[in-house]
Parts: sequence; structure tokens; C-alpha cells
Amino acid sequence: MPAQRKLFVTTALPYANGNFHIGHIMEYIQADIWVRHQRMQGSDVNFVGANDAHGAPIMIAAEKAGKTPQQFVADIAAGRKPYLDGFHIRFDNWHSTDGPENHELARQVYLDLKANGLIETRVIEQFFDPEKNMFLPDRFIKGECPRCHSKDQYGDNCEVCGAVYAPTDLINPYSALSGATPVLRSSEHFFFRLSDPRCVQFLERWTQDGRLQPEVANKVREWFTVRENADGTKSEGLGDWDISRDAPYFGIEIPDAAGKYFYVWLDAPIGYLASLKNLLDRRGQDYAAYMADPALEQVHFIGKDIVTFHTLFWPAMLKFSGRKTPDNIFVHGFLTVNNGEKMSKSRGTGLDPLKYLSLGMNPEWLRYYLAAKLSGRNEDIDFNPEDFMARVNSDLIGKYVNIASRAVKFVPGGKLTGTGASLAAIDASALCESVRSLYESRDYARALREIMAAADLVNTAFDHAAPWKLAKEGKGAEAAAVGSYCLEMFKVLTACLRPVLPELATQAQAFLKCAALDWSNAATPMGEGHVVGDYKHLMQRVDAKQLDALFEAPAGEQAPAGQPAAQSPPEGEASAPGGEEIAPGITIDDFARVDLRIAKILNCEAVEGSTKLLRLTLDVGEGRTRNVFSGIASAYKPQDLVGKLTVMVANLAPRKMKFGISEGMVLAASDADDKAGGIYVLNPWPGAQPGMRVR
Ligand SMILES: [Zn+2]
Repeated sequence: MPAQRKLFVTTALPYANGNFHIGHIMEYIQADIWVRHQRMQGSDVNFVGANDAHGAPIMIAAEKAGKTPQQFVADIAAGRKPYLDGFHIRFDNWHSTDGPENHELARQVYLDLKANGLIETRVIEQFFDPEKNMFLPDRFIKGECPRCHSKDQYGDNCEVCGAVYAPTDLINPYSALSGATPVLRSSEHFFFRLSDPRCVQFLERWTQDGRLQPEVANKVREWFTVRENADGTKSEGLGDWDISRDAPYFGIEIPDAAGKYFYVWLDAPIGYLASLKNLLDRRGQDYAAYMADPALEQVHFIGKDIVTFHTLFWPAMLKFSGRKTPDNIFVHGFLTVNNGEKMSKSRGTGLDPLKYLSLGMNPEWLRYYLAAKLSGRNEDIDFNPEDFMARVNSDLIGKYVNIASRAVKFVPGGKLTGTGASLAAIDASALCESVRSLYESRDYARALREIMAAADLVNTAFDHAAPWKLAKEGKGAEAAAVGSYCLEMFKVLTACLRPVLPELATQAQAFLKCAALDWSNAATPMGEGHVVGDYKHLMQRVDAKQLDALFEAPAGEQAPAGQPAAQSPPEGEASAPGGEEIAPGITIDDFARVDLRIAKILNCEAVEGSTKLLRLTLDVGEGRTRNVFSGIASAYKPQDLVGKLTVMVANLAPRKMKFGISEGMVLAASDADDKAGGIYVLNPWPGAQPGMRVR
């Protein structure tokens, strides 16, 4: 049994402007597995989360919804529980960065930094929206990244290359609120002096001393160096960090600075401490004493898009305000679905977690599948429906669950006999120790591979011993020994899987009538004479129909071209051009989220088994082709379309259809009422090239 640890564990705080998406759930499951593993070795863990409540985007969204920001955040917060409970994610506390603890802690951290000479004010030029009459928050200015030149990046950091910069560094900026070109106005801002030699020296050591994942440390190292880039631009090393925003702003007011608020990214990570303090206060524990314990380790699970905030600003804020610095930052990649678009903090649909639950899909299938993909490295993983079904049905159920149902039949009364010699080449203690240490390093993928390899050995040994034959031959005692051995191994495997599958492990423990499994008793045999209970079916298999339903577009959305949502206006309604009323108004930013591109139809063919669909092979200038199904077979012969240009939605989540995956949607016009009126595929004027954006 390894040393028990005292741990304070967090996941990134989700922004309270929308519901969880599958990317959040993946991170929480990753952290929850680690925490459950820690508890199995007796570690003392506090695992907390909170809603990230502040900032201009929430203020603006609340205004649009006709609510106060507080109401708006409270409504989002009320929706968190079904996700967390549904996927067995067990935080000890879930709080808000708008809680009183955070207001107090944020002010104190700031005052401590100021007393340490690390805060200064400067008058800066800032973008102002002349139409909306307000300074524009970073997230509402968009433009081209000054480092990697990706288009449509936010004003504070680039989602493509991870660069952090000032909004004024953006190339060709525009206001996402009004579309107007912003103008510069001056305003006094507060800065955290990250360029101070004390900060630089501390961070160079803290980020490069081996604590961070090597790929993360390497990335961070680039940010320290002053150098010429390949494109002739210059990297300046660590710059100071602008931590204030002007009213109107939903946030924490800066002490002695009326009308100035902390930038949301200053008080968001302090929310980790605030959530912990809220928990300890409620338990009657002393927060200061808890944090002062030198044995305490503080670790944060985060996604790769917020590494800068957590490896530079956050440790420096803590260090130079005289607080405990994080012991580690565990960074994971993004989750894609069907190799589709990434699920980042600000975007993401594709696999709706609540829909998953509402379809009656077992949350532990998803926990198992994600664990089987998570290696502990900062790399993207993909959710693939076929792979999901194979891993759950063949591995989890076919290999592990089946052991119990097969073995128990040969153990009369469930009473274990002596198992004699080990039937399979499995050293239970060594297996448990190896799996335990793989959980410790968050290499869940390898842990599950070792567990499934052992399950294979148990099944092979069972088949080889053929207890059904032994029973027929009157060798019931030998058959019982085989069954008993397999049940002992089932118990060992259950312990190994418990961090990933807490509910299944609880049911298995009830069946085995064994003590709660942890790393101290995982390899200990239940022993001769132990009586197990009646076997009840432990887990259903994944049904392909559930996956089809999961990825089916909601009615009225993503209808194939030419089949607009059947939404007939009321009788006698004259104001319905094309048989359909004009949809509710949207902002330019809403429209900008739909990425329309010119596509060249390289090939077009009929789809066997469908009278409606054509299969199009499209070139959108990406250096690869896309496969798109379109409901236009009634209007076009395949050969009519080959070589033509059209317009497609290029960032639509890939959709699994009966005939294959459709990677986008071709635009076509039709009358909603008059289905016989024809379908007309859009065709750009001559000169447009594949890949050009339509705006
Ligand atoms: Zn960039």
C-alpha cells in the first residue's frame, strides 16, 4: 500500500453561459476516476468545482434574456446536477465564483500582489464599439490571430495556436456585438507585472522542473523566450497581464478603484479556493490551517486551451500573494466526435450528454469508453460509435461481466471451494499493483488493457478447464473449483475497475457479498467457504439503435437539403414566403458561426436503397474530399451535378446516416408547402473557387 496523500483536486470551472457539453463531462470523468482511485488507497481528497459566473459574455447574455446576471447564472447552475449525478461524477462541493468567499479571496489576492509591488496601472488604448457605446470585452472582438493568422479568433486568446494577446493585436478586428469596426479609446487599466524578474525566474523553474507533462512543459517553454519567429515577427517573452475591465461589467469590483472590475480570468481560478473554503466552512474546518499543511497537494485538471492561465498567471498569482502554489496541472486534449469538430469551452455539440442519458444509455459505458481512450497525455481523443459499441459489448461485457455469469453456475449454493492451483497465469497482487500505479499516472487506457488481458486469461482458463464437462462426468468438486477460481478473479477485476465503474462495482460487490473493494484488499481472496449471492444480470449491451438515436439530428434541424423542416404556417397566414415564415432574428455573430463554403462536386452517385438521397464527393479546398448525402435525388441526375460548384455548410457536426457519415450539408432552395415545386441547388456566380467562404 503506497503512501496516502492529502489532495485538493479541481476541474476547470465551466463558464455559466450554457449547459455542459461532452467535453466538460469527459474532463469530470477523468478527474472523478483519479479521485476514486485515490480514495481506494486511503488518500484524503477534497474534489471541488464551481460555475465561472463573471465576465461580459454572461452580462450580455443575461441582458438579452431579460434577467439579472445573478438570475441568469443561477438558472444555469440549477441545470448542473442531472449531468453530474447522471454520470456518477461525485464532487464534494459545487460552488460559484460569484460567492462571497470568492469576492473576499480575489480582493485579498490582489491586495497581496499589490503590496508585493506587482500591480501597476497604465492608460491603454482599448477597443470601443461606437454603435453599442461600450468598451468591447475581449470575447466580443474578433479578428485574425497575430501569431498564426487564423481567422475569427477571440480578442484574448487564439483557440488554434493558444497564443494570448491583447485585443489590439488582432488583425482586422470587428465587434461581434454589432459587426462595427471598433475604435480606440483610452482607459486606465490594472496590470499584473508578470514580466517582473521574480515572476519570470519563478515560472521558469516551476514550469520546467519536471512536474508538468513533458509536452506541456515544452509548449510553455516557448513562451519565455525572446526570439525571431519564422515569419519575421518577434516573440517578446512574458508580458504583463491586463487584469481590469471597465464598467459595465459583471464581476468583482477592484478595491479603491470605482468602476473598475477584475477581469474574469483573475477571479475564476481563485474560485477553486473559494469552493474549497465554502466546503470547509460548512464542515467547520479551518481553511487557513488546511491550506498551510505542507503535506497538502493541489492539482488541477484542465483542457489544453487554458494552459497559459494555469501554468503562468495562476501559479505566479499564488506565489507572489504568499499562497500555496499548485503541485500539478493535468492537461487533457479535446474530445472529437466522429472525427468532427472539437468540443472546446466555447463551442461544441455533437454528443449531447443529457440526450445520452435520456435514451437510457448506461453512463458507465461512456465512463469505460472514455477511460479506455485516456492515456494521461495531452492529446485529442475521438468518440467513434462503432468503436464505442465494440469496446463495451466485446470487452466490458463479453470479457469481464461474463466471467461472473459463467462461473457461478458451477459453484453450488454459491459456496466457494478451495481453488487449488491457479488456473491462469495471473498474479493478482502484481496485477492490482500495476493497475493501481497506472491510475496514479492517469494512464487509464493502459490500466484497462491490462485488466482486459487478465479477463481474457480467465476466460481462456475457464474454457480450457471446461467445467460443464467436468460436471457431466460427475466431477462436480473439480467444476466448483474452476467456478470458484473464476469468481475470485472476477472480484480482483472488479476492484481494478472500480474507479471507472463505481455503480457496476457496487452491484458486483453485492453479488459477491464481499467488503467494499479498495487497493488494500483488492488481491486478497474471498477464500474457501465464502458464500456469494444470487447472480443477477449486471449490465446490458449497447444497442446500435441507441447510437443511431443519439446522433440523429433533432427534428427540424439539419434536415437534408430539399427537405426543409415541415413547419407549415397556420391556415390563411399570408406572410409566409416560400411556405415558411421568416425565422426569428439573429446577430451577425450567430450567422458567423455557420461556416458556408464554396464546394466543387467532384463526384455524384445514386445511393442504393434510397430514392431521395444522392452521395456527393465534395472538394472544399482542404486537401481532402468530403462525403455528403443530400436529399436531391428527385430533382437531379448524378451526372448533372458532377463538376459544378455549390455552397455547403462546412462546420456542421458530421452526421451518421444509414448509408454512412455525412460531413456537411449542401444548400438548396425549395417551397416548404409545395413539395412538387422542385428543389434548386445553389450555384455561385462564375469565378468562385472551392474553399472560399460565403458571408
Ligand atoms: Zn493563433
